[in-house]
Amino acid sequence: RTTHFGYQDVPVEEKAARVADVFHSVASRYDLMNDLMSFGVHRLWKRITLERAGVRPGHKVLDIAGGTGDLALKFSRLVGPEGKVVLADINASMLGVGRDKLIDHGVGGNVEFVQANAECLPFPDNTFDCITIAFGLRNVTDKDKALASMARILKPGGRLLVLEFSKPSNPMLTKAYDEYSFRLLPKMGELVAGDSESYRYLAESIRMHPDQETLKGMMESAGLERVEYTNLTGGIVALHRGIKL
Ligand code: SAM
Repeated sequence: RTTHFGYQDVPVEEKAARVADVFHSVASRYDLMNDLMSFGVHRLWKRITLERAGVRPGHKVLDIAGGTGDLALKFSRLVGPEGKVVLADINASMLGVGRDKLIDHGVGGNVEFVQANAECLPFPDNTFDCITIAFGLRNVTDKDKALASMARILKPGGRLLVLEFSKPSNPMLTKAYDEYSFRLLPKMGELVAGDSESYRYLAESIRMHPDQETLKGMMESAGLERVEYTNLTGGIVALHRGIKL
């Protein structure tokens, strides 16, 4: 069986190892590159995600593929001392950078760090009030399995938010964006992180990711209800939200 690694077909077992290499390689410069590559707009996309998450004091929240912890940091303030946030990621390097950043920000005892694969999350059924996955799903080999795993561990009434690159609604925007991501992005990766290959993978993985309607259908198949999405920045990114009833 093969799957996609960017535009390449690779054996299923190989994709996870290649994705791991990419994130080990970019971890220490990930935050800087994120700001440069998105001109800082990823902060706005994440702020909108936080607003739609509806997280309140006392809630239990999982940020899977949480990487360097931008969302987890904000959630830890929202849930307060009675709540709990789990920052989970498959990659030890990304998780390490995230943990250091949260400690630097004085985050206390309400955040737990867990190395886990989104496809088989090591938590009991009905655990979380909210789960987020931001710019993570496209890196997962079996996305349907991951969505089902997230649905299983949501509490009834809990919500899943998926923030991910998607399909721009305007062809002119698609053209400009292709130019940017296939030419400029690997160059920036080379200059700033000394690693054009990883950034080429990131650009290609964005193109291979399911579009808005396809992802909506996948979330419904995983058992989520009232699934809806909002296009951000002309559909370059979409925020999907579904509820477990
Ligand atoms: N959520 C963070 C953000 O928005 O800044 C990090 C996003 S980063 C582009 C993607 C993250 O997904 C990486 O930290 C990577 O290690 C993680 N990842 C990739 N495959 C995964 C999997 N199967 N399970 C959990 N995390 C995964």
